[in-house]
Amino acid sequence: TSFKDLGLAAPIMKALVAEGYETPTPIQAKAIPHVMQGRDLLGIAQTGTGKTAAFSLPILHRLAANPNRAPRRGCRVLVLSPTRELASQIAESVQTYGRFLQISTTVVFGGVPLGKQERALANGVDVLVATPGRLLDLVERRSLTLANVEILVLDEADQMLDLGFIHALKRIVGLVPKKRQTLFFSATMPKTIRALAADYIVDPVEVAV
Ligand code: AMP
Repeated sequence: TSFKDLGLAAPIMKALVAEGYETPTPIQAKAIPHVMQGRDLLGIAQTGTGKTAAFSLPILHRLAANPNRAPRRGCRVLVLSPTRELASQIAESVQTYGRFLQISTTVVFGGVPLGKQERALANGVDVLVATPGRLLDLVERRSLTLANVEILVLDEADQMLDLGFIHALKRIVGLVPKKRQTLFFSATMPKTIRALAADYIVDPVEVAV
């Protein structure tokens, strides 16, 4: 497979050329066509496999194909990530891949003042990358609503559970619309994680790399 075969929107292709990406990694080749079509995904993959682009590229493609306004204090895509470092890296990648699209991206995480993050959310964002605890703080303060989420990404689910985010995760998933696309990634897939995933994804494509 080449990136050309995947049929991604031209502005996304342009960003990939600018980044020097020539060939999709295995997880990208397997996941991108299904995610572009709106399918749920269960991905078993570690960092370093090109996982971030595997979900970011088809998500950006779908946003570009359906250019709704981001809702006030809301977001169209929510990516949950266990740590501020990972969340920041994802946001940076989304920004890079989406730089030739009219797409706004924001990252929020704990340990820093809320004010700047609240201001960044006020007019809504297309893609919000967040750690679970801070996300719930912002929802409780009414600075953020999850009622308009179209696509939910749970990244590094095993690590989120290890860090004690299970209750936060469950609360967050309870706040996003039932009718949505969900992408669930974990480096490992023990029974507990698979059972959790089964609650959140519908008829998923399963990709392991
Ligand atoms: P990730 O697994 O998402 O953390 O990505 C690992 C690294 O691979 C990142 O530095 C990406 O910029 C890079 N990368 C992802 N996909 C490709 C690709 N198709 N070609 C070249 N580099 C890539």
